[in-house]
Amino acid sequence: MSLLAKYQERVQHQHGWEVELQCPECNHVAVPKYDGWTASKAIKLGDTPTIYANLTCSDCGRDLKEAAGGKLKELFKDVAIPVRNKGLLYKFLFVVIGLPLILMGFLWAGVVADWWGYGAFGWLGLIAFITTPAIFYFNYNIHAIRFVCECGNPRYLSMGLLGRSYCYRCSSCAKCLRLRD
Ligand SMILES: [Zn+2]
Ligand SMILES: [Zn+2]
Repeated sequence: MSLLAKYQERVQHQHGWEVELQCPECNHVAVPKYDGWTASKAIKLGDTPTIYANLTCSDCGRDLKEAAGGKLKELFKDVAIPVRNKGLLYKFLFVVIGLPLILMGFLWAGVVADWWGYGAFGWLGLIAFITTPAIFYFNYNIHAIRFVCECGNPRYLSMGLLGRSYCYRCSSCAKCLRLRD
């Protein structure tokens, strides 16, 4: 398998919904009918839920996307982003923000001290060579977290987004996992 295919396999997720919802129309409480998913262009702010799954009441057929949003918030608002995920994010920010600043400072210092001319700023192009693989590397490792679960049979389904974090729930043990990439 090529490196890119391996990467895509790792970061892609399976959508699904396996949690009971109450229908606001007929009050029926059940796991809703799942009919694929639709991409959403919703603005992801704070703790706003974004539901991609097409969910309807198994009894009366009412759309349950809104009910699902409320449920997602309830399930995930207290779920912390794993320490390993946070560590990777901080390292990522260092690489894409910290390193370029350091490089820029170094080049500037050299211009001021007359070690080299302004042309040295061309070296800033190096940043693209650092950040592109860094994005791949960190996303890959962040999503690797989903491929292990305490229950020994990890099957994480994507339930949607809370703000900008991905909400996953293990089908085998119901554990909830929140990831940021
Ligand atoms: Zn209903
Ligand atoms: Zn599990």
